[in-house]
Amino acid sequence: MAKPKTYEGGCLCGAVRYRVAAEPVFPHLCSCSQCRKWSGAPTLAWVEFPLSAFEWTGPAGPPRLHRSSAKTQRGNCPECGGALCALDDGYENISLVIGSLDRPNLIKPDQGHSYRSARPKWWRVEVGTGR
Ligand SMILES: [Zn+2]
Ligand SMILES: [Zn+2]
Repeated sequence: MAKPKTYEGGCLCGAVRYRVAAEPVFPHLCSCSQCRKWSGAPTLAWVEFPLSAFEWTGPAGPPRLHRSSAKTQRGNCPECGGALCALDDGYENISLVIGSLDRPNLIKPDQGHSYRSARPKWWRVEVGTGR
């Protein structure tokens, strides 16, 4: 079996960086009000990776976590505030916002759109087939 690709990303200022070498899991869109309020964006693109293959590599270490709901924490850079990840209690994967990847073209969020009907009605989202 081929070695999995390495994905790297981080926040706007570079204080929080990450690296993961694993197959992406469940790349999808979400338009729930939590994602919207947290990021300021009408829709977020997410991808999961196993925590076992994941590491924080930037000078600030891991992001600052905010408990956004009973079972979920969301992580932002403590310096610039950049939105990076979500962690569900007891879950084996970390969820990353695809926009934080250095090369967001590598992962296409084509496995569904959670809370699609919660998006602003003027917002049309389409995941194209291009690379
Ligand atoms: Zn930052
Ligand atoms: Zn959401």
